[in-house]
Amino acid sequence: MTNQEKITALRDELREHNYNYYVQDKPTISDYEFDVKLKELQELEQAHPEFYDAASPTLRVGGEVTKNFETIQHEHRMYSLDNSYSKEDLEDWEKRIQRILGDVEVEFTCELKYDGASISLTYEEGELVKAVTRGDGFQGDNVTTNIKTIKSVPLQLKGDYPPKFDIRGEIILTLEGFAKMNQERLANGEEAYMNPRNTASGSLKLQDSALVAQRPLECLLYSITGKGLSISTQFEVLEKARAWGFKVPTVAKMCKTTDEVMQFVEHWDVHRHDLPYETDGVVIKVNSLRHQEELGYTAKAPRWAMAYKFKAEQVSTVLHEITYQVGRTGAITPVANLEPVLLAGTTVKRASLHNADQIEKLDIRVGDTVFVEKGGEIIPKIIAVDFTKRPSDSVVTKYIQHCPECNTELIRKEGEAQHFCPNDTGCPTQITGRIQHFISRKAMDIEGLGGETVELLFKEGLIANYADLYTLTKEQVMPLERMAEKSAENLVHGVAASVVIPFERVLFGLGIRYVGETVAKKLAKAYKNIDALIAATEEELVTVDEIGTRIAESVVQFFGESSNVEIIERLKSYGLQFSLSEEQLENQSEKLKGQTFVVSGVFESLGRTELKKLIEDNGGKVASSISSKTTFLVAGANMGPSKKTKAEGLGVPIISEQEFLEKLG
Ligand code: AMP
Ligand code: ZN
Repeated sequence: MTNQEKITALRDELREHNYNYYVQDKPTISDYEFDVKLKELQELEQAHPEFYDAASPTLRVGGEVTKNFETIQHEHRMYSLDNSYSKEDLEDWEKRIQRILGDVEVEFTCELKYDGASISLTYEEGELVKAVTRGDGFQGDNVTTNIKTIKSVPLQLKGDYPPKFDIRGEIILTLEGFAKMNQERLANGEEAYMNPRNTASGSLKLQDSALVAQRPLECLLYSITGKGLSISTQFEVLEKARAWGFKVPTVAKMCKTTDEVMQFVEHWDVHRHDLPYETDGVVIKVNSLRHQEELGYTAKAPRWAMAYKFKAEQVSTVLHEITYQVGRTGAITPVANLEPVLLAGTTVKRASLHNADQIEKLDIRVGDTVFVEKGGEIIPKIIAVDFTKRPSDSVVTKYIQHCPECNTELIRKEGEAQHFCPNDTGCPTQITGRIQHFISRKAMDIEGLGGETVELLFKEGLIANYADLYTLTKEQVMPLERMAEKSAENLVHGVAASVVIPFERVLFGLGIRYVGETVAKKLAKAYKNIDALIAATEEELVTVDEIGTRIAESVVQFFGESSNVEIIERLKSYGLQFSLSEEQLENQSEKLKGQTFVVSGVFESLGRTELKKLIEDNGGKVASSISSKTTFLVAGANMGPSKKTKAEGLGVPIISEQEFLEKLG
């Protein structure tokens, strides 16, 4: 087999595995085997950039950064939908349709209404060329680089697809994926996201496509537009799209009467909670595309389609008490303790009250009967008070002024909704929370030590911060509850073994607010060692890619506390890693500092990813589009003519791969 044949075969194979896994939910090989093959393809592609393919499965990992999303006109407008809430609404709609179409039999296709962010995808010759958000319906944002990282979006179609068409659908987060994302955020000391829908739509506008690639987004498709499609019904649209490799939920049904439609609606109103994603209703469409054309559009929606909205599930119950939780970063969360009540199949005892403003806005008081609703949130929320049932002796809720754990007076920064306990060095929950974060899997990953033992060690006065872990002895630990000689030994061992954990994970483990895994990596790479990072000012920090003022402020504040610096000095003396390793440092320089590059075309001696890494490792920045801020355009073979014209227009110098390498020496 030639290299080209090998590359093609691997691409085809991986594409099929992606399809089996993400579209069919039926993987046929293990994740490990998949990774091995992907790596093999990556290496072959790097060695042979002449076989570059914009639809290669290796491009799913993202990496391109978009600063400003380009606005693009929709070739076909993206309409909204009219809503209905009852059988009568639907019957009225059917009558209106019959009046226009005359005495013909009308069939309907019922689909679920997926609750996410709408997207329009353009395919040419079977390749994804463009992905645009709905925007105002007439024009939206070009988010192609981000959409390409969503594994259920085919980059290359199969079967007898038409040469050019647009397909529309909804970008969603599954409930499970959303819950996982939130667990990670909480572990990073960040606030949880409110609901899957907003998070999905926010994800599309992230600048770094590598971050989008990490989110468990999915794309569910439901309509096709284009010329010469030889499709005659909506139901066929769904079947065809499925055959070409798109993810189209099979929960769709053809119905002949309003009664059948209502059966579908009623079934899914009950069973929607068994679905892996959220739905807020059903969309009913006239099945024949010829009929659809005849019916046309109103100013805002098609006449041939109607959304039937489910009622949000809601119950009322009594609020017994408001308690307050303290997070490891000191953030206070008010929690409603409720009379247990059945809601959407689970018993609900607690609901989030978010913050003081929310309580004040809704005037929530202990003793009130409140309406509780379950949306996509992890825990249900209170949406209103039933004022008719308010007891006559009820009193206005006074938000706590002091920390429930350490009694320190709470603070609230301007513009922030959350109250904080500022006593980060003395508040027990914050202390143990920080140590628990430090030892967690993604940070120091200390074996033989768990969250409960941390609490015990703290209570017994054996540790007061994470540096103290490194002075623990077997003799000190053994007398603790449920400890034996072996487990004490394991603990001390586990702690000692953690000194080899690389710098970026130590940095993450320190628990600086807003410094999650990714940010820690960026900071480690930019500053290379802790002393440089400690010395950095806010102004310097914000020049690092992806670091905004909020993070910069938090970093400076953290290192401004002498107690934190003292702990770091101690950790250093125990041998923890506070700088990048020799290996990581090798091949890094500041030669390209302050320069921004755009890379375009196919290269001879380097892969594109390799080239970008070289730029970043040498202190340069990689941008995805040319602007007046671009220092150089590195041009390979087959570079698009528009990039060239733009660079020339802005006076951006165009250099070859060879010239670039010479710059680096
Ligand atoms: P709304 O935003 O409430 O006006 O609802 C209209 C939106 O519902 C459309 O723009 C689509 O993005 C979305 N939608 C979700 N599922 C479907 C579906 N099966 N068919 C058509 N539109 C859908
Ligand atoms: Zn406190």
